[in-house]
Amino acid sequence: MEIRVRFAPSPTGPLHIGGVRTALFNYIFAKQNNGKFILRIEDTDQVRYVEGAESYIVESLKWLGLNYDEGVDVGGEYAPYRQSERRQIYEEYVQQLINNGKAYYAFDTPEELDAMRKRLEQQKSSVRHYNYITRTEMKNSFTLSPDEVKQRIADGEPYVVRFNMPSDRVVVLNDIIRGEVKVNTSILDDKILFKSDGLPTYHLANIVDDHLMKITHVIRGEEWLPSLALHFLLYEAFGWEPPMFAHLPLILKPTGKGKLSKRDGDQGGFPVFPIEWKDPKTGEIYKGYREEGYLPEAVINMLALLGWHPGDDNEILTMEEIIDKFSIEKVQKAGARFDPEKAKWINQQHLRKIPTSQLTENFIKVLKEKGIDADYEYVMKIVELNRERLNFEHELWDTVNYFFVAPQEYDKKSMKKHWKGQAAENVQLLIEFIEELDDFNAKNLEEKIISYLNEKQISLGKVLNPVRLLLVGRTAGPHIFDIMELLGKQETIKRLKDGLKRIGNNS
Ligand code: GLU
Repeated sequence: MEIRVRFAPSPTGPLHIGGVRTALFNYIFAKQNNGKFILRIEDTDQVRYVEGAESYIVESLKWLGLNYDEGVDVGGEYAPYRQSERRQIYEEYVQQLINNGKAYYAFDTPEELDAMRKRLEQQKSSVRHYNYITRTEMKNSFTLSPDEVKQRIADGEPYVVRFNMPSDRVVVLNDIIRGEVKVNTSILDDKILFKSDGLPTYHLANIVDDHLMKITHVIRGEEWLPSLALHFLLYEAFGWEPPMFAHLPLILKPTGKGKLSKRDGDQGGFPVFPIEWKDPKTGEIYKGYREEGYLPEAVINMLALLGWHPGDDNEILTMEEIIDKFSIEKVQKAGARFDPEKAKWINQQHLRKIPTSQLTENFIKVLKEKGIDADYEYVMKIVELNRERLNFEHELWDTVNYFFVAPQEYDKKSMKKHWKGQAAENVQLLIEFIEELDDFNAKNLEEKIISYLNEKQISLGKVLNPVRLLLVGRTAGPHIFDIMELLGKQETIKRLKDGLKRIGNNS
C-alpha cells in the first residue's frame, strides 16, 4: 500500500508556524515511507476566505523546500486539489448520507437557533447545542413530514444538512501519538455538513477528499482532536475504511500558558509566520522568518524539534538527517514550548555550515550595493575571521564594516572605559614602534608588540584597547593583531594618527 499524506490548510490568513510544522511532519513521514505528500486547499468557508492566503501557503512551502507531489499548482491524479472546485463531488456524497439516514435536513433560521440556545440556558440545561434531544423541537426531517421537507426545498428555503449523531455510543479511536481516545457520542452535536449555498463544511469535505485522494495517514494539529469522533463516524456512515490519525501537540508560548500567538511574536520581537504577510484589509505587516534572515534549513530544524527530539545531544540536523531519525510514534503528547532564543541559535549553527566562499560572494554583492569595490581575497579573510560571531548573515556588514570604512566617531561607552590616563601617549608610542616594522603579519605583530610593551613595562590593555577603539570605533571584533594585519600598515597608522587628532586631548 502506498503511504499518502496531505497538508490541508484553509486559506484564512497567513500560515502560522504551527501549520508549517504540520506540513513538515507530513512531508517527513511521506519521505520516510516512500509515499506521497499532497497539498489540498480547504477553501469551502467563504466567509473566512482571505485573498492571497493560498499563494502565501504555496510560497512558504516552496521556500522551505516542502515540495509536494500533488497539489493545487502542480496537479495530480486526484485533481482538483482546491475544494471550491469540487462542489459537485460533495453534493453527491451528502445525498448518500441523507438517503441512508445518516444525515438530515434542517430549516431553522439563525433567530430560531438563537432562541433555542437561550431557552436551554434558561432551563439550565447541560446541553446547549443541536443534538438528539434538541432536534426534536426544531424544524428538520425529524419533525417535518417528508412532503413538507421536499416542498420547502423546492420553494428555495435555505437549509443545512446535519449529521445524525447517535445518542449514546462510545466510540473508541486510536491515535498514533495519543493512543486510545474514547468519546461518548452523547456529548457531540449534530454538526452541519452541508449548506444550501451548495458548499460543504470542513468536516464533510475533509472526509470525502481524504477518502477519494486515498489518504492513508492524517497528521494534523491537536486542535482537530475534538473532531476525531465525528470524522470516524462519518467514515463509518459512508462505509469507508478510516485512515490512521496522528494529532500533533500544540506549540506553546515561550513563557506562561497557552498557544503561541501572533501577539507573543509582536511582544517578543520574533516572527510566528514563515514569510512576511501583508494583511490585504488593514495593510498591517506580519514579520516572517525569511525576511528576518533565517535560513530555510534552520527553520526546518527548529520546527522539527517542536514536539520531537532525536534522542541525543545532536540537535542540529539537516532535512535528510531528520528524515532518517524521525519517528511519528515518538512525537510527544504534551505541548511543545517555543523558544525564540533557541531558534536564533539553530540559525547560527546552520549558518556555520555554509562555505566561506559562498558567504564571501554574497557579501561582495552587499558591498557593491554600498559602492565598495573590494578584493575577493581581502573579503574572504574578513569573512573567515568574523563568521563565527554571526547569528544571521545580514549581520555581517554591521560586524565588519570598519574593515571597509574607517570609523568617523568612537563609541561613547568604550571611550569612557578605555580612553583615559596615558591612552594618547600609549597610542603615540605604538605608532612610532610599528612605523619601524616591515613585516605586518599578525603573528609577527603580536610577538614584537608584546615584547616591546613588556620591555617598557606598560600593560597590554592600556595600549591595545585604545588602539582597538581607534581602528574599529568600538570594543568589538577579532584579535587586534589580525585586524592590524588586514588593514595593513598604512591604514593602521593612518587611523591611529587620525584618531589622535580627533580625540588625542580627551584622555
Ligand atoms: N482545513 C483544516 C485546517 O485548516 C485541516 C484540518 C485537517 O488536517 O484535517 O487546519
